[in-house]
Amino acid sequence: MLDADFFRRWMTATAASVHREADRLTALDSPIGDADHGSNLQRGFTAVTAALEKEETDTPGAVLVLAGRQLISTVGGASGPLYGTLLRRTGKALGDAAEVSEAEFAEALRAGVDAVMQLGGAAPGDKTMIDALVPAVAALGDGFGAAGTAAERGAEATTPLQARKGRASYLGERSIGHQDPGATSSALLIAALGEAGGK
Ligand code: ADP
Ligand code: MG
Ligand code: MG
Repeated sequence: MLDADFFRRWMTATAASVHREADRLTALDSPIGDADHGSNLQRGFTAVTAALEKEETDTPGAVLVLAGRQLISTVGGASGPLYGTLLRRTGKALGDAAEVSEAEFAEALRAGVDAVMQLGGAAPGDKTMIDALVPAVAALGDGFGAAGTAAERGAEATTPLQARKGRASYLGERSIGHQDPGATSSALLIAALGEAGGK
């Protein structure tokens, strides 16, 4: 079972990973974006960890709803509302249970990813974070390690794609040949589940 502490560790591990990889995320956002993805997420996850230290969150749902709200209010870029919606909707789907099973979490995350697709209008293959998140959710039944690998492969598979959503889509065919920054950060988010432990 996964408790509120597990979800706090997930957010802390994601923040650490975002800080470690910020330069790489921004470098990926240079050729097909505006070179701010690393700093956007650093700002967002700094706010997430600060809020989790300050405010009491005693359920998994409360942790994720609080984290999502911070991302929406502090990240100016497209990724803020999208990641914020992902975490908030996942948290809402978990309700007010003190502990949730891995299967319940997988189902909630699926609802979160669906909400991101609805908000941003992206489908798999559009060269966005969805290309890492959808395979991650599909693999989650096989454990966090499998989900992390699936997300990483999904992110790598965005390289030959032409972007159809977000800033990179303005480049048309010139977006081909670059890995999507948001799919790359989504792979970090999913890999952080393994670092948070649980099971
Ligand atoms: P901005 O493009 O506003 O500067 P970021 O650089 O922080 O925002 O985030 C860019 C990432 O957001 C992209 O690499 C892509 O993965 C993701 N993204 C952009 N638009 C969408 C969308 N409509 N649906 C899903 N993901 C999107
Ligand atoms: Mg950007
Ligand atoms: Mg921007």
